[in-house]
Amino acid sequence: RAARNGEDGVRCYAPAMGQVFLRRFQLVTQFRHAIDSGQIEVHYQPKVALPGRQVVGAEALVRWWHPEYGRLDPDEFIPVVEATGLVDALTAFVLECALIKIRDWLDRGMRMSVAVNLSVRNLADESFPDRVADALQRHDIPPELLTLELTESSVMADRERSLPVLRRLHTMGVVLAVDDFGTGYSSLAYLRHLPVDEVKIDKSFVLGMGTDLSDLAVVRTIVELGHSLDLAVVAEGVEDDISRDQLVGMGCDVAQGYLLSRPLPEERFEAWLEARTKREIDARSETVLTL
Ligand code: C2E
Ligand code: MG
Ligand code: MG
Ligand code: MG
Repeated sequence: RAARNGEDGVRCYAPAMGQVFLRRFQLVTQFRHAIDSGQIEVHYQPKVALPGRQVVGAEALVRWWHPEYGRLDPDEFIPVVEATGLVDALTAFVLECALIKIRDWLDRGMRMSVAVNLSVRNLADESFPDRVADALQRHDIPPELLTLELTESSVMADRERSLPVLRRLHTMGVVLAVDDFGTGYSSLAYLRHLPVDEVKIDKSFVLGMGTDLSDLAVVRTIVELGHSLDLAVVAEGVEDDISRDQLVGMGCDVAQGYLLSRPLPEERFEAWLEARTKREIDARSETVLTL
């Protein structure tokens, strides 16, 4: 709005407002270069099957190492970039990184999936499924190892366009997940009309379930609803053993959260995986010995 008001309008704002505007403007103009010059980094956060400990995959989450502002989290720059066509380049970049990662694991005998977050623009883009299909083929990846996460509100933003895109992706065999479920538009009834395989309980409820009975009730309801619709239920924001145990008790299928690990740069994620696998093997051989 500051821009439309012209110079006079800008003067009406507090200096801090002008700075926020300037920063957003910079983020948009610098984003393309940021992708091309390696400032955008994909981190991976593990997802573990409950009640066991098996790592089933990871979610790809981007960070921007900005030369002036330092590390920027996606909640600051994604909404800014999402308003422009630039978010298409971001999705393409993250998808490419994710598929390279899945292929690398396959080549090392590991079958794990990676989840990529989509933007509302991808869902409205009828050529998007073909580009995903091309990318899967190029990397020789079975489609079920790729998960695409979308929010209900991004589907609702343009249902007419998104539904065919989702149906196409679903038919291809890509796993579709509804992210941040329980917030925004979320309508339990509408969920069954979406061609999706997985529902992710928003972390606000999972973070609150230890202290707030209504959060606990929401989590329980989503797990039950998800299962009644034959969906896998993932809880994000699992930070402690208590909530993990509660989720196990409810029959929640997958957990993701700081309890397991924060999102990590690729090399650190690999080190985490290796250490965990080693611990598993040690634990198992100990069991064998004591038997
Ligand atoms: P999201 O897809 O719901 O991702 C989960 C967010 O919860 C991540 O925040 C993750 O770091 C955080 N989280 C995970 N476990 C815990 C926990 O135990 N406690 C707490 N407090 N937080 C936890 P992050 O990485 O800052 O990402 C924020 C959002 O930015 C994502 O929410 C997603 O909507 C968006 N985003 C991230 N990467 C991409 C991308 O490549 N493309 C698009 N379009 N959006 C992205
Ligand atoms: Mg997500
Ligand atoms: Mg989420
Ligand atoms: Mg989110």
